Amino acid sequence: MLAALSVGAIVGIAVGAVIGVCLIALFLRTLLTRPKDEPVSVLPPRPFDQDKVTAHIQEAVRYPTVTMVDDYKGKDEPFLGYRAFLEREYPLLHAHAERTVIGGYSLVFHLKGSDPSLKPACFLSHQDVVPAPDVGWDYPPFGGELHDGFVYGRGALDMKNHMIALLEGVEQLLKEGKEFERDVYLCFGHDEESSASLDGAPNIVKYFERKGVRMEFVVDEGGSVIDGNQLGIPHPLAMIGASEKGNGDLEITVRKAGGHGATPQYPTADGILADVIRKVERHPMRPRFTPLAKTAFATLAPHAKGIFKFFFVNRDVFSPLLLKVLGLVAPMTNALIRTTLVPTVLTGAPARNIIPAQAKVNINFRILTGQTGKDVEAHLNKILRKEIRKGWVSIDFMPYWDPCEESTVDCSAFETIKRATRATFPDVVVAPYPIVAATDSRFYRAISDCVYRFSPFMMSMDDQPRVHGYNERVRPEAMVQAANWFANVIQATCCK
Ligand SMILES: [Zn+2]
Repeated sequence: MLAALSVGAIVGIAVGAVIGVCLIALFLRTLLTRPKDEPVSVLPPRPFDQDKVTAHIQEAVRYPTVTMVDDYKGKDEPFLGYRAFLEREYPLLHAHAERTVIGGYSLVFHLKGSDPSLKPACFLSHQDVVPAPDVGWDYPPFGGELHDGFVYGRGALDMKNHMIALLEGVEQLLKEGKEFERDVYLCFGHDEESSASLDGAPNIVKYFERKGVRMEFVVDEGGSVIDGNQLGIPHPLAMIGASEKGNGDLEITVRKAGGHGATPQYPTADGILADVIRKVERHPMRPRFTPLAKTAFATLAPHAKGIFKFFFVNRDVFSPLLLKVLGLVAPMTNALIRTTLVPTVLTGAPARNIIPAQAKVNINFRILTGQTGKDVEAHLNKILRKEIRKGWVSIDFMPYWDPCEESTVDCSAFETIKRATRATFPDVVVAPYPIVAATDSRFYRAISDCVYRFSPFMMSMDDQPRVHGYNERVRPEAMVQAANWFANVIQATCCK
């Protein structure tokens, strides 16, 4: 007995010692992970006229350039007015660049560089915005009014702020007489906010493909500068999107004998549909880290503090636990690590006293890099196998996009953008990451290996719900800082 206990104790001590040694190793690894010393001197701000920049963003949001679909079909006056405003306010760009109109409303500006052996750089923005009913806003959504240090208006964050800052940056460089070595394209689509987005960006990309133009890099909306403290990092973080998810919709139809409300027979199509929806919500697809998500952790880890640093550095060891936590902690972190499916539109009986012969749900899905629509289909076939076997359920996919390939971040374009970002935003840490929303830039992956999604604006938690929501607004100082970023990035990547 004593001997047996002794063996047990020895095993216990041995196991404890192994765990102890492992923990010490993990702590040491955490301690020894330090940020690389890469000094960058912050560039002095260029002499932008803040009042003029403010007047420009105010006027920009006054054109209600709502995507011309549904109720807004054919309503092109705001787009033509906006185009005339650009012509009037950015004279140097219009004098130096060749402008091409694509699909009636999308605009491509081409500034020629002196060295034809260099591939061009490409900067994107969409001109259109989502609708904004007056109700719910503190100030008129297309008024461009200035209150409490903010310009209010639809598009102030998505993304006339980005487009105006880009134009200010380019106009400033031209004013300074900078010579471009590399060609620069500015591409402004007009229907990014329609879920299909079929006329603008795809046709611009086709135009480049016809001309045989491939881009050195592309910059579009997506990431932004965020407060690092929410991730245990005492720096602002410039999060540059280098991939985005695929997306689409599918319809699940339940068919079952219908009839009169007075003589129900169970289960009804509606009842089965309710079960189907519950299964979709309760059986999410498996989480995992994409290669880019791993790169994001590896980049941020040395800058993190405390427990955040411990888990970021030892991500490989704690991967299952981290995935579990990220899946639960917030919708955004959940979306970063898995393909998501969500029920949106429901349709059932045509009248209150009819039991429907069919009931439908639309499922909106967002596909993680590395997976495809086929994986979504396989997942649904698995979790709904009972309903499918009984012949109750059919699944129909609408046209959808699989995720485009992740962009390279191990390249000189990314390094130069990173340095220019650090030279514009003091104390910032730059990290690539996968974005969860869709942008026009997904089409550009066909003509560039380096497609980056970044708006050079500080986005707070308070700003997030204003995008596509109420009281969208931007600070004039932020506009000027973003204009500086564009000027610095274009100078660093494209000028002599
Ligand atoms: Zn946008």
